[in-house]
Amino acid sequence: MKNTIACSLLAGATALAGAGAHLTTPTAPIVQEVSQTAMTGAECTEGHVASALFAPGTDPKVVERVSLAIQNLSDTQRFETTGRWPGASGEPVNLTYSFPSDGLSIPNGIGEGTNPNTLHATLNARFGSEPVWQALFVQIFDDWAAATGNTYTLVSDDDAAFFNSPGPLNGGSGRGDVRIVAKPMDGGSGVLAYNFFPGATGGEMVLDSAEFWNSGGGTFRFFRNTLAHEHGHGLGILHVCPIQQTKLMEPFLTTAFDGIQHDDIRAAQFLYGDRLEPNQNSGEATDLGVFSADGGGGFDDLCIRNNGDDDVFAVELTNSGTISATASPFGFSYSSGPQTQACNSGTAINSMATGDLVLEVLDTDGSTVLATADATAAGSAESLAGVVAPAAGTYYIRVQGAFGFVGNTQTYDMDFSVTVDEVLACIADLNNDGVVDTADLGILIGVFGTNSPLADLNDDNIVDTADLGILIGVFGTCTTE
Ligand SMILES: [Zn+2]
Repeated sequence: MKNTIACSLLAGATALAGAGAHLTTPTAPIVQEVSQTAMTGAECTEGHVASALFAPGTDPKVVERVSLAIQNLSDTQRFETTGRWPGASGEPVNLTYSFPSDGLSIPNGIGEGTNPNTLHATLNARFGSEPVWQALFVQIFDDWAAATGNTYTLVSDDDAAFFNSPGPLNGGSGRGDVRIVAKPMDGGSGVLAYNFFPGATGGEMVLDSAEFWNSGGGTFRFFRNTLAHEHGHGLGILHVCPIQQTKLMEPFLTTAFDGIQHDDIRAAQFLYGDRLEPNQNSGEATDLGVFSADGGGGFDDLCIRNNGDDDVFAVELTNSGTISATASPFGFSYSSGPQTQACNSGTAINSMATGDLVLEVLDTDGSTVLATADATAAGSAESLAGVVAPAAGTYYIRVQGAFGFVGNTQTYDMDFSVTVDEVLACIADLNNDGVVDTADLGILIGVFGTNSPLADLNDDNIVDTADLGILIGVFGTCTTE
């Protein structure tokens, strides 16, 4: 089936070649000019499925023709995804990428014909030198990494035959999982680039060498958004509609924003989880740190995917204390759905309330639940305040999705704070020299009978014999810090 799908791309791409220049409004139904005999299949590549990115203004019928041909539209996620790289669903992958040498033959992908790779020459001409454009690739891979926890490593490329030469994730070696090339396609505008979805091989990115990739001033947003969009396909994300210039994975390039957006991140996190994965249980919990005094922190843009996904965080207290935490869903009301011809509608969703969160604090054994917050419906935060940690040790904060929350993601922010009871001996170390001794006794006697907080060890607003008794009780201690 995929072979057939790839074949029919020939028609769409031929139409784009005929369309020529950048169109500012949809005009004639150019796709009707395409001869179906163009769909020969002679240059189809088994097992490869690509997705093309269009310049703004490309005829929507052309877009639909190309896109329907190459996408699996049976997917009904609000964000639209296809398969992912090898690995456990919802957990990140370590991807490598590489730049084959100029001159490597790049077979036909979407009807543009076979031509040699010109990536280095093309981008050196646009950006001046390799470090400049390679840094832009690093930027967009960093953005995807920050959203998902996937990692990206540049490796050398052995110039093995393009297409069907797998990278390390698919058992190959000598080249990256994601190989990036450029070649002529349809002149300026029209198709900007295409990218293969993950598969037995896949992930390859092919740029149109005719585009003015360095347009858009010093930030090169046109280039970077194209790369980020294409690699979105390379992660397994499909186009989404409607076109509102709010989602990077819309089928038309936009420079209205910079980089991946909320719906794009939701799709990537559905496939690979959030950047702290894997943290499914206490054994692989995200380390929140060791606290010997009151403190706290948190993370934004995490996600729970399905109701089997747990996010677990470990917080170590050096003494008894309390733990507070909040899991706050994050999202928007917007419209999103599979690609259609007009690409002007989708299904209304509220990503703030796609899944109901449950928040818990677990004891030091990693399983006993000390407190649970499941008081609110989807869309509202869950909070736990002042959960008692009865002794020093590592406790756990766990965020889950409520039962029935399947096939979706809920983005959320997690914030926590702790209080840590001060060790009494150190409270009596009034001059903070590491030991409770006669110097501290002298300080206490010096303020005896006053309300000085310095030596009011039991907080009863008077320095008296009770405080003296506390100090004497720990005399000689607090030397180990
Ligand atoms: Zn695309």
